[in-house]
Amino acid sequence: MNIAVGDLGDSQPASPEACPALVLNADFRPLSYYPLSLWNWQDAVKAVFLDRVNIVSHYDRVVHSPSFEFRLPSVVSLKNYVKPAKYPAFTRFNVFLRDKFTCQYCGVQNELTFDHVIPRSKGGMTTWENVVAACSPCNLRKGGSLPKAAGMIPNQHPMRPTVYQLHANGRLFPPNYLHESWMDYLYWDTELEP
Ligand SMILES: [Zn+2]
Repeated sequence: MNIAVGDLGDSQPASPEACPALVLNADFRPLSYYPLSLWNWQDAVKAVFLDRVNIVSHYDRVVHSPSFEFRLPSVVSLKNYVKPAKYPAFTRFNVFLRDKFTCQYCGVQNELTFDHVIPRSKGGMTTWENVVAACSPCNLRKGGSLPKAAGMIPNQHPMRPTVYQLHANGRLFPPNYLHESWMDYLYWDTELEP
């Protein structure tokens, strides 16, 4: 597909790169929350032309080719339902989110690092069950000691969260950027304000 973006008028301030599409499953729930399922505009447009998605909502932004004009989708939904993952990806962000961006030893919310509960030097693995958020002073204090030897036990026993649990925590920490057209599809299962 050959779509020119160089000839866009000045009336369109947002660059197409700043126009990702929120990807919904066929049931109109986001395909994933953490990370939020977003496609760049090229992938979104390609999927539209391959007839794999329906366009649910648009940006004002238009891209041109010599033969057509196309409004960039801001929300698309898959035509075929994909069974969602039960467990979120093991990522740094998701570990912080599970731990609510809080040091698991002293409870502060800044200078966060990752601590291996059983230190790597003692065979501790980098897994959901052995990595927790810890502020750097606590991390330093604990060093290479085992939790009991250091007298530092994580506030919550670290476990692999379900997508649902992470989603519940995620409501406390909404992402910085959410396009207005996405709002109907995010947090729709939260309770509405009275
Ligand atoms: Zn701490």
